[in-house]
Amino acid sequence: MSISQNLDAIRQTLPKGVELIVVSKYQPVEKLQEAYDCGERVFGESRPQELVKKYESLPKDIKWNMIGALQTNKVKYIAPFIGLIHSGTSSKLFEVIDKEAKKCDRVVDVLFEIHVAQEESKHGWEKSELLEYLANGGHQTLNNIRFRGVMAMASFTYDTSLVKREFKHAKELFDEIKQNFFADKNYFDTISMGMSGDYKLAIEKGATMVRIGTSIFR
Ligand SMILES: *Cc1c(COP(=O)(O)O)cnc(C)c1O
Repeated sequence: MSISQNLDAIRQTLPKGVELIVVSKYQPVEKLQEAYDCGERVFGESRPQELVKKYESLPKDIKWNMIGALQTNKVKYIAPFIGLIHSGTSSKLFEVIDKEAKKCDRVVDVLFEIHVAQEESKHGWEKSELLEYLANGGHQTLNNIRFRGVMAMASFTYDTSLVKREFKHAKELFDEIKQNFFADKNYFDTISMGMSGDYKLAIEKGATMVRIGTSIFR
């Protein structure tokens, strides 16, 4: 199947209000151009260097999303153009994003990556850590970051009831944070969860954004 056919098939399964992030990591720019020509404008990458190269060689109306682990020393490379950072995993990282965004005179959208999977290897905030961070109010001084919501990854397993439970926890934590810390912020509206193998379950549990690579580029 072609990229165009794959995209059509996926679009048919996305309800209104659920945004598709085309995960283009490791794909050559020709493939991204093909998806672009099918109308896609929102791409997700996991490595800063690759992201910069693709940004430079593709049309400028693409909204670039950083979905992979982000080291503080790499933030400066993407700060001038990044649209949304999903992998917001620490207060230290937020401070650096804020500083680099300020240098570019930009406000950068960021998600709190939260840890809901059983697997130890997946990173992200533990619920208690994040609630404590927000209660301390440090995030309020970061004028060049706009926190938009949460990002989560479920366990990689065929146990769909476990995956559903994890997505449900992510949605519940989003609701709790929204109510307690962002109630007056209409833009705090994003729940990024779901990949090729589990995005339908994620949508069932409240995802507003899905990140799909394999099912598009296979
Ligand atoms: C690679 C990746 C995806 C896309 O996964 P597919 O299974 O290829 O759809 C989504 N989110 C993150 C964080 C990823 O690293």
